[in-house]
Amino acid sequence: MSDLRKDPTRSQWVLVRPRGAVGPEGAECPFCPGNESATPPEIAAYRKEGSAPNSPGWQVRVIPEADPYFRVEWDLVREGVGMYDKITPRGASELIIESPSHEDTLATMGPDQLERVLWMYRDRLVDLKRDTKIRDILITRRHRKPGSRLTHPYSRVTAIPVIFDDLRRELWESQDYYQYKHRCLFCDILRQELSDDERVVRLTPFFLLVIPYAARSPFETWVLPRQHACAYETLSPEIAADLARLLTGYFGALVTGLGNPSFELSLHTAPNLHSKILQGEWATISDDYHWHFEIVIQPERANRLGGIFINEVPPDEAARRLREAWQ
Ligand SMILES: [Zn+2]
Ligand SMILES: [Zn+2]
Repeated sequence: MSDLRKDPTRSQWVLVRPRGAVGPEGAECPFCPGNESATPPEIAAYRKEGSAPNSPGWQVRVIPEADPYFRVEWDLVREGVGMYDKITPRGASELIIESPSHEDTLATMGPDQLERVLWMYRDRLVDLKRDTKIRDILITRRHRKPGSRLTHPYSRVTAIPVIFDDLRRELWESQDYYQYKHRCLFCDILRQELSDDERVVRLTPFFLLVIPYAARSPFETWVLPRQHACAYETLSPEIAADLARLLTGYFGALVTGLGNPSFELSLHTAPNLHSKILQGEWATISDDYHWHFEIVIQPERANRLGGIFINEVPPDEAARRLREAWQ
């Protein structure tokens, strides 16, 4: 049995879990059409009309992870162990299979397919947030993870009974800034970046794609919606289409300009506001927080000294090189 333990010196959660079973090596890809029975039954799918669940005919398919970090079936128990705190890892670990085509990548699947994936992100957030014991949902996408055996394109959805440490820090900073300035931190970053115009890579009707001022690693990228909204699931079809076109161009530029590096994309969005939280804890969140994507290039090569990130590609130069690579 695994559990979430809190390190009281850092106020950070750690998932302690015994190593799970590893699937058979060298078998056929379990995510390819025709192999649906090799995965647990699907949670959701976009299908062409007439195709039955857990059979071919899907365009995007969501399944539970075979060896999950977090499970919906577990009871949520908070427990003190002497001076320490622990909590059962009640939540969900899901995989979004992004395309029936094994060879597809985010750069090659095309904007229509990417838009379906982005819409599935929305659907999973809406569905999982109905569970009030789930406090936070993280959607991430690794590309070319070193040592990964599965090459079929998929995103990961992780829903947990606490707020992820990175998001909590960001929520606090946004709230602090708002209390002081009465403006959204990210709306101010948007204005600043547009007026500086040094780190802007692309501007669309609905999004700014930018290298952040203090990028932690070479080519770190943020994708900020130009309209203020704290939660991704408020996305409209028009905005999703614009986002899919933008990201298709961006992932293409990574291939042509940077030699197809590994990356990790993560969606930063409001936690589950229906979950039981401290009175007033996020009272101003709809005004003070602003959803966005962050993309870290070659996360396995992050360079840090005592917690300080060292970035050897200045953000202005990274933005210029990405602009030049964009076709
Ligand atoms: Zn496959
Ligand atoms: Zn904002």
